[in-house]
Order: sequence, then C-alpha cells, then structure tokens
Amino acid sequence: MPKKTKTIKVGDVLIGGGNPIVIQSMTKTSTKNAPATIKQINELKKAGCQLVRLAIKDIIDTKALRQIKAKTKIPLVADIHFDYQLALAAIESGVDKIRLNPGNINDKQQLKEIIEACKSNNVAVRIGINAGSLEKDILKKYKKATAKALVESGLRNIKLIEKFSFRDIVVSLKSSSVPITIEAYQLISQKTDYPLHVGITEAGIGEPGIIKSSVGIGSLLSQEIGDTIRVSLTDDPVKEVWVAKEILKSLELIKEGVTVIACPMCGRCQIDVAAIAQEVYDKTRNIKTPMKVAIMGCEVNGPGEAREADIALIGGAKEAALIINGKFVKNIPFKNIVQELIQQIKNYA
Ligand code: SF4
Repeated sequence: MPKKTKTIKVGDVLIGGGNPIVIQSMTKTSTKNAPATIKQINELKKAGCQLVRLAIKDIIDTKALRQIKAKTKIPLVADIHFDYQLALAAIESGVDKIRLNPGNINDKQQLKEIIEACKSNNVAVRIGINAGSLEKDILKKYKKATAKALVESGLRNIKLIEKFSFRDIVVSLKSSSVPITIEAYQLISQKTDYPLHVGITEAGIGEPGIIKSSVGIGSLLSQEIGDTIRVSLTDDPVKEVWVAKEILKSLELIKEGVTVIACPMCGRCQIDVAAIAQEVYDKTRNIKTPMKVAIMGCEVNGPGEAREADIALIGGAKEAALIINGKFVKNIPFKNIVQELIQQIKNYA
C-alpha cells in the first residue's frame, strides 16, 4: 500500500500526496557569492533539480539570498542552524522553505517567531533531524543515534511545531548508516503523514557514495516511502541530481531522458561498448524525451535488446548495425558510431 502523505507546497513545487518524487540538491558555493551561487543553481536546474537548498551562515548570506531569489526560477530552501534571526531574515528575503534542526534552536519563543513568520509568508519547514545533532536527552536515552532515537526526535519536533498550528512540514531523519536510515524512515512513515525527505547523509565520494545513496534511497522508494530525495555526495552537486534521476529512472518512477542499455562486453565484442555508451550518456543527459538506447557488442543478445529499445546499435565485424523501433536502418562505419548515434537520438527526441 502506498504510504499516503499530505501535500506541501514549496513555491510552485508540490511535495507528497502522491505527486511525483521531487529531486533536490544543495549549492556548494558560499551563499554570499551571489553570482557563483546563481550560476550553480542554474546548472542544477538544467540537470533536473526542482528545489535548491543554500547554507545560511550569517546575515550577509540572507542579503545575498534576496539577490539570488530575484535571479533564479526555482524554489529555494534556506538551511538554518543555531540562530533564529537568520531564519527570520531568510524568510524576509523571499525563501520558499526553511530547513531547521529544532534540536539546535532551543528557545521555544524563538521557534514560535520563526513559525509565525513562515505562516505569514507561506514558507514551508523541513524538520531536518540528523544523527550528528540529536538532542542530548535523546542521545542519553538511546546511548547512540539509533533509528528509534531519530524517530523520537522527529516526532518530538513535529509536535513542537504543530503547537503553533502549523502543518506545512516535511521531515527528514538522516544518518550516514544505510540500515539505520532505512529503519528510521520505515518507523516514522507508520507514525506521521507529513511528506518525507529521504537521503543518506554524508554518503561520501565517488562509487561508495553513489552506491550508499542508491541502496538507501532506492530501498525506501521501492517500499513507497519518500516524497522528495537528495543524494548527498562529496562532489559537484550536479552529479547529485544525475544520480537522483538515475535512481528514479531505475525504479521507473520517472520516465524521462535517455536510458542507456549497454552489454557488459566479452570476448565476442566487436565495438568499444564502454567508450561509446559513456560518451552517448554524457552527451545526451539533458534530453528530456524518454527513450531506451541499447548499445550491444555483437549479434548474440543484440537483436533481442534491439527489439525492446527505441534505438539500438549492434557491433558487427566491419560496421555496426543501427536499428530504430526494431527495424534495421543502416550500417555505420566504426569511426562515425558516436556522432551518428547522438544525431539519431536528437532526431528521435
Ligand atoms: S552482446 Fe555480445 S559482446 Fe556483449 S556481452 Fe553479449 S555476447 Fe558479449
């Protein structure tokens, strides 16, 4: 059964309530460097990001936020820690959502002021619980940042904010441990119907980071838990968006863009499948039309995959066969394969 959640509006983006999973990321520029931040936000949007979070460290960042907001067309989320004045200033600068870790804003009156400002300005709140910053009493009770500890903190903070008659809430419970994160989201999804922001925090670099994120986020989404996702990589944030899109594509939660199917290669391989597939993938990332492109090393499994794909290329002894919609179109000389295939993909889009 799908876990039914409330719908929360962030700018013009709907999170939860059965709406498509929203992809988000976070800028890695200093927010006060508005031109660099605007450039990165535009790159993220082009890659398919729908919501961008920015770190707000001081009041100068909140001033830059106003300029950034005026020059970008994507809902912005201000990431706030410790200082409630920064939350108020970010809201005043036109942000669409704030991410708060209420565990580090201890004064209830200050929290009330933030929530009242959110109400007046239609700003949503993400309660961002993180294993690294749990409340002291919860940590003492559970001895470490377990799934149950994360859930207790999440539920406590939901109650705290609901006391101010505020319901535009999204919740995240993040840990760098995949099993703890999965368990925490499974538990909280049974106890709240607020939309869940899912991710593995500090997943790290390169392949390990991508694999941890994919396993954690993918497991939850396949259980129909999660309404918005952020892949956290120690890398260019655009890569976070590419990985997020691939996770959603692999679960068939979005039908968008080019899906490259490539054989693993073996001793029968007649073309450099790895190099061709990589170049085709890199150069067609921004195409939105859904299509399957199969790149196969030889005729063993080539014709079978070609029948299932929109466009297929099968390596032969001297040339490669181009097949579109299951029909042979022509043979392509090896030296023209990538150029020709990309052109055919663009024509198809
Ligand atoms: S399609 Fe051909 S080259 Fe590719 S793995 Fe299969 S047998 Fe090997």
